[in-house]
Amino acid sequence: MADNNQRALVLFSGGQDSATCLAWALDRFAHVETIGFDYGQRHRIELACRKNVLHAFGKDFPAWRGKLGEDHVVSLPFFRDLGHTAMTSDMEIVFEENGLPNTFVPGRNIFFLTTAAVIAYRRSLKHIIGGMCETDYSGYPDCRDDTIKALQTALNLGLDTRLVLHTPLMWIGKADTWAMAERLGGPALVELIREETHTCYLGDRGQKHPWGYGCGSCPACELRAKGYGAFVARAGQ
Ligand code: ZN
Repeated sequence: MADNNQRALVLFSGGQDSATCLAWALDRFAHVETIGFDYGQRHRIELACRKNVLHAFGKDFPAWRGKLGEDHVVSLPFFRDLGHTAMTSDMEIVFEENGLPNTFVPGRNIFFLTTAAVIAYRRSLKHIIGGMCETDYSGYPDCRDDTIKALQTALNLGLDTRLVLHTPLMWIGKADTWAMAERLGGPALVELIREETHTCYLGDRGQKHPWGYGCGSCPACELRAKGYGAFVARAGQ
């Protein structure tokens, strides 16, 4: 077994950001496990996509194949009981008075990271990697760097551990996330992320765009489209 310091757990939803984080972790650590959450999300299709992406990581990237460990899927069915949001109910996505889209599930990342920490504790995985980003996001306060740092402290106190929470995308925009994927896995990884990852809040995989599949108009699709456009424009200069 790789020593504790070489063992990592990636919050892997099946989206662009977490797929890039998975590549980041595989580039750095000897043993990388993944965790995903079934919380009644309306874009449940991401749970199927994540399996395809994981399979492709193992198949197409020989250097990473031997490092990929167990995949954990944890059910958090109580999310629906916490109140309706456009993330877990079939309602129109709109921006509310506080400036946040109604896809915001308050504290979602706090639940996710806390759950991941429990798995990491049990599996002796020192490093936890998440795709939270403060630069280019929909304004979710639980993506903020200060939230993550405070949570790391709280978890280490509460579990009596020295877990390290990594957020490699925290200070970069979506175009740079594509560039990071290219740096880590070459054009093959960019292509894999484009084809197989899922971002759209509505779970739409019927329409293909240059940046991948999605409805093209929800906040997640808009961010992804804008980032990919900027990445391609930059590459063409
Ligand atoms: Zn969409």
